[in-house]
Amino acid sequence: MLTPDSLAGNPIQALFNVSALFQQPVGSSVTCRIDSLLPEDQSSLVTGSVNLTHTGRGIALTGEGEANVVMECTRCLRQFDARVHFKIEEQVHPDPRYAHRRGAEGFEEDGEVRIGPDNSLDLGEIIRQHIVLHLPMRPLCRADCPGIREIDLDG
Ligand SMILES: [Zn+2]
Repeated sequence: MLTPDSLAGNPIQALFNVSALFQQPVGSSVTCRIDSLLPEDQSSLVTGSVNLTHTGRGIALTGEGEANVVMECTRCLRQFDARVHFKIEEQVHPDPRYAHRRGAEGFEEDGEVRIGPDNSLDLGEIIRQHIVLHLPMRPLCRADCPGIREIDLDG
């Protein structure tokens, strides 16, 4: 289960190894389904796909998907299952500490996910960041939610 609280941590386990892609010519790309990257007990939480393109010094990511996030309605304060649509556009580069191994340039940017020394990319963290960016500011269980008072009167 994903919640705004769990999304502040590290709830999505999805590592992708980009070694094979780095061995392909620049411009090569691969598309993977997000649910197929997730452990079985998480595979229903996030759907969609991510395209990874070898850019020469890193990987360009594009994709979109939907996440099931349990949120609290700002009117009636009940919990409900929100379907959060998200898009991904991101560039990732090798960790600069290891970049010299393949002659790539390192970049410094706060919060940026980097390709690890073993060529593993934490796609789960990238997906998590983009779900958080697309969380509704004022979640409603339904557009015409009457709020807490009317629901109490309805019994
Ligand atoms: Zn509501």
